[in-house]
Amino acid sequence: MEEKYILSLDIGTTTIRSFIYNSRGESVGKSSDQTILHYPQHGFVEIDPDELWDSIVHIVEKALQDAGLSAGQMTALGISTQRSTFITWSRLTGKPFHRFITWNDLRADKLVKNWNDSFTWKTTLRFSWALQNITALRNAVEANDAMFGTLDTWLLYKLTGRKVHITDVSSASATGFFDPFVMQWATWAMSFFSIPISSLPTVVDTAGDHFTSTDPSIWGVSIPIRSSMADQTASMWGSCCFEPGDTKLTMGTGTFFNINTGTSPEASISGFYPVVGWRVKDDLVYVMEGSNNDTGSIITWAQSVGLFDKPADSADIAMSVKDSDGVYFIPAFSGLGPPYNDTTAASGFLGVKASTTKAHLVRAVLESIAFRTAQICECARAETKYQFHHIRLDGGVSNNDFVAQLVADLTGLRVERPHQVEMSSLGCAYITGLQLGLWKTKKELQSLRKVGRAFTPRPAVRNTYTRVMARWEEAVKRFSDWYV
Ligand code: ADP
Repeated sequence: MEEKYILSLDIGTTTIRSFIYNSRGESVGKSSDQTILHYPQHGFVEIDPDELWDSIVHIVEKALQDAGLSAGQMTALGISTQRSTFITWSRLTGKPFHRFITWNDLRADKLVKNWNDSFTWKTTLRFSWALQNITALRNAVEANDAMFGTLDTWLLYKLTGRKVHITDVSSASATGFFDPFVMQWATWAMSFFSIPISSLPTVVDTAGDHFTSTDPSIWGVSIPIRSSMADQTASMWGSCCFEPGDTKLTMGTGTFFNINTGTSPEASISGFYPVVGWRVKDDLVYVMEGSNNDTGSIITWAQSVGLFDKPADSADIAMSVKDSDGVYFIPAFSGLGPPYNDTTAASGFLGVKASTTKAHLVRAVLESIAFRTAQICECARAETKYQFHHIRLDGGVSNNDFVAQLVADLTGLRVERPHQVEMSSLGCAYITGLQLGLWKTKKELQSLRKVGRAFTPRPAVRNTYTRVMARWEEAVKRFSDWYV
């Protein structure tokens, strides 16, 4: 029988990836590129749509080359994208009115503060900011020429040759103006924030035929698109978190701790919020999420200022010293998530002294990432009814043995890391493969899951860190309320 191949595209904040999977869920070709982020002023984080498009077209070609396959051999395409990043463009010309405003952009920060710092409001408020500040967009709204899209919507629009203006429920729910209870755009929020309904995409299921297919002008043939979803949903699928209570922890550009809450949306006091996980026909699943914006972004910065040559070197450097020499780092480029929910916190080192070496700084940076992650896990444990026995880890930073081990030590949970940590890409393949009938059930997908390495908690290390973490929490207090 002829082999069937699934092409996946995963548009992350740091990395854009394309993988090709066979019918056993094995990767047979891949390619990746860096996402180019622009910082036109403090707090602004943008992506240029033309740069992104060129990069997407190119990495798919490279992945095909890597696999020794042609676009015509791809049975279907599945897409996963960063959430809440949006753009607006002209219905008439297809031309954007501005660059993508990303999920970690702080330009509407003052408005966000007035709205209780909630993650779920941030896209609404940034869109509202764009409507107030971009004249061309305002004029287009008046002329009914404005189209709004999160990254998935824009990508589907481009890939299909402007045939569809749609978004799936998981990406829609991350905008904040989608009501997860009635599963429709929230009309009250739109009238409150003057968001024009005519500019919004149609909300569709996470997988199915409605995405149509790629325009042949892009890769020479038309490839059916069978799924499109938010990156954290895709990663839940890759980690096979199909049952209520199943959790995964993604450490990519940011950290995202997600719990499958089944058919009910759930939130917590400390800042976990409900999002729609996915909907495929009558399979509607909600996910509870706690997040921290800065994880990989801190690693990328540390590399850029020369603390290490490659991210892969950082674990050994951190382990070359026995502690951080009393140096603490606060990782808050875009504020701090639960339990602080403080968008005004500053980043920086505290406690640097004459004896401090580069290795101490690296260790302080990696420790801070593990501390924030452990805090988020603790919030989930304290405020939800779910019992956690292990953590399914993924994302670029999960490659770091020092961080993965410290997360296990501090949470007291076994941390399971897969062979390949690109769970969003794999999740695209799984949900798409189910559509194609390559796999029959989610149970069958679970049987494909392989743990690459497990990190077992070390209680003695946890004890050592009790005082260190308490000091670090003191340091956090000193860095809070900085950007008032
Ligand atoms: P996203 O999906 O949000 O684009 P990724 O999952 O690709 O992000 O993660 C990218 C981040 O992972 C980068 O900041 C990179 O520096 C970091 N990273 C990759 N390998 C390591 C490593 N061994 N140790 C620490 N960080 C790493």
